[in-house]
Amino acid sequence: MSRSKISEELREEVEKRAEYRCEYCQTTLEISTQRFEIEHIKALAKGGTNHPDNLALSCRGCNAHKHSKTKGHDEITGKKVDLYHPRLDNWSEHFAWDQDPLYLIGLTPKGRATISALKMNRTQLISVRNLLQQLHKHPPTL
Ligand SMILES: [Zn+2]
Repeated sequence: MSRSKISEELREEVEKRAEYRCEYCQTTLEISTQRFEIEHIKALAKGGTNHPDNLALSCRGCNAHKHSKTKGHDEITGKKVDLYHPRLDNWSEHFAWDQDPLYLIGLTPKGRATISALKMNRTQLISVRNLLQQLHKHPPTL
């Protein structure tokens, strides 16, 4: 099943497993005008497969910024580190909402490198978080 198209059944399984949120920025699918993307954590071009363990639900923005990257740069340690892996890592160990919960902060080199690489505090996300906050739907409960 490596390069075959992702079936509707598999897509729904990935959406449900992610509780209909982007597995990186945690934005809810409910406010999106289109379905989120099924992201290959390890890109097909780099030998990744369509196995559920290599798939994550990702909003368009996070997926576009991640592209085929699996490593990023942590500004504090100056090191190149693995990006957050939704299947292997625990989100809350690497990310937290700032005191102003419109912003995500990285708790670890991996968290910081992922926020930077995927631009997880991009202007569009801040606007969405602001609106969701007014609806009492942000920050999300994980
Ligand atoms: Zn996202």
